[in-house]
Amino acid sequence: MIRFFATIFSRKLTRLLTFAAAGLFPACGNSSNALKINDLEKETQMAVPRSKIPVEDRWNVEALYSTEAAWKEDFEIAQGNEAVRWPELGEYKGRLSDPKALSTLLDTYFGIDRKLSKLHVYAHLRMDEDLGNDKFKSDYGLISTLFYDFQHASAWIEPELLSLDDIQFQKLLAHAELKPYRFYLEKIGRMRPHTLNREQEELLALSGQALDASHRTFNALNNADMTFAAAIDSQGKGHSLTHASYMAYLRSPDRALRKTAFINLHKSFEAHINTLCELIQGQVQGRLFLAKARKFEDCLEFALFPNQVESAVYTNLIASVRRNLPLMHEYIALRKKILGLSEIHVYDLSVPLAADVEIKMSYRDACKAVVASVAPLGETYQGHLRKGLMQDRWVDVYENARKRSGAYSSGCYDSMPYILLNYQGNLNDIFTLAHEAGHSMHTLLSKLHQPYIYSSYPIFVAEVASTFNEQLLMGHLKSVMKNKKELSYLINHQIEGIRSTIFRQTLFAEFELQIHRWAEEGRPLTPALLKEKYLELCRDYYGPDIVLDEEVAVEWARIPHFYTNFYVYQYATGLSAALALYEKAQNSADARAKYIEFLSSGGSRYPIDLLAKAGVDIRSSDPALSPVDAAMRRFSQLMEELKQCF
Ligand SMILES: [Zn+2]
Repeated sequence: MIRFFATIFSRKLTRLLTFAAAGLFPACGNSSNALKINDLEKETQMAVPRSKIPVEDRWNVEALYSTEAAWKEDFEIAQGNEAVRWPELGEYKGRLSDPKALSTLLDTYFGIDRKLSKLHVYAHLRMDEDLGNDKFKSDYGLISTLFYDFQHASAWIEPELLSLDDIQFQKLLAHAELKPYRFYLEKIGRMRPHTLNREQEELLALSGQALDASHRTFNALNNADMTFAAAIDSQGKGHSLTHASYMAYLRSPDRALRKTAFINLHKSFEAHINTLCELIQGQVQGRLFLAKARKFEDCLEFALFPNQVESAVYTNLIASVRRNLPLMHEYIALRKKILGLSEIHVYDLSVPLAADVEIKMSYRDACKAVVASVAPLGETYQGHLRKGLMQDRWVDVYENARKRSGAYSSGCYDSMPYILLNYQGNLNDIFTLAHEAGHSMHTLLSKLHQPYIYSSYPIFVAEVASTFNEQLLMGHLKSVMKNKKELSYLINHQIEGIRSTIFRQTLFAEFELQIHRWAEEGRPLTPALLKEKYLELCRDYYGPDIVLDEEVAVEWARIPHFYTNFYVYQYATGLSAALALYEKAQNSADARAKYIEFLSSGGSRYPIDLLAKAGVDIRSSDPALSPVDAAMRRFSQLMEELKQCF
């Protein structure tokens, strides 16, 4: 299928909203897997069949379609006549300079899109309940193919709009009939200087699969072919090392276990380092080719263009974090002192500082805590969330045999904002619930206040809503847990959130920018060059106390996000904006109202404009105004709080 540049830019592949936390997006705020090692080894045998999970702990898919037969019936109507699907779309070909025709076409187009999204959400939820169920897999395949056909059948729309001359296009933008579509058209219009003629566009579209080869190869190597030697605990016992168990081992108080997990995992990457370097090189070269073909200044500008984010937002983030690196150095030294270590290594960074404390909660108690925590956002917000979690069954709570791992929030305009969890009751699980509930409430409010076309929102703002709710939950838990050990555990969790989401992701962002710059200068990437740069960054970020083992130098080779094109910086800007908004909301009813307005705005403006309206200027490089600097001040306060606990 041919996907045109503007099509890719101005709307998502589907209009579905799926935001993942633990598991699916390893860099998301809640990524650390706090399973105890014993739990982890038992995990595979323990999973219960889905039929044993009580109905009240399963998401309410029946609200979407009462039976699979009802889904099938709707699907067959949507599928229509196989010979000419959606003939109503084709009628408008060649007529888009006429505002009336364009308006009717867009109504039709988004109407079909909306129906297919509903079908798609049901099929993907059912599939994720049981990844081994062939019927669900087949239904998911059917609707995915239909979506694909729909995209193919409508792929001419944006190129035709882009082929109009400037006067015609401006006339459309100004026309009263098209007022509901003005922002949508404006976004397409921005692509004009970077869109090629039809033949060239077709050629570029044909290169898509080949340009994606590095990413696919990395995934195959990383997820399927690569194996790791077992991690060995202090008793000499071996523990099977996988991507899933790695984070759990890094959080273990058993230092021998976390050390061998770290060393053995990275040794496998070192063994493939030439291949992995070529894969990164292939990825970067592909981006450079597209950036040049589309006449962008550089790869960074190309990547940030769709959300109208200036390159300065990216470079200011790096500058702000770098300004505050002494705080990270102080934290590393503090960690070393509290843990009583003579040397601190990278594998000592994730272990909780208060080792003999564990905060656990039943799922019902976690729901109560999350609902109580959002009280500052007002009764309407709280009421929606309470109903969703405790009555409407948004959430699929527990693990069952063959259920998708991790956690996400997903839904569409005509569904509930469903949440998938694999809840086990530890602190990370409780925060994952708050995180996903933040996404779901964002989705719900967007849907209640925006027309279909502007109800979905980009990741740039998504992570604000989810991490804001984590701050609310933290505030609530700190107010009810007075025990010093529990408090230190919570503060540690909060500090780790900022370390892993702002400092670490900015380190990644800086590395990512550098490798693209080298490619732009024509400098070949070699394992030695990448290792040297990565070590240099780790030295800068972690400071004089850290002891950098040689394995640290290959960490870049295992990060899947380096194949997702300047993506990670959004985790850092998202949490920074959330912290800044949270600070404002604590002291001002006006700020709280603006925050609700921000959530209700969906994707009706560019993300930076939405945030600015809520009171955060993510573009600012002024330390007094930059939300990144504000987050750094918060980090500093938290360190002071932590010191009081030990
Ligand atoms: Zn998220």
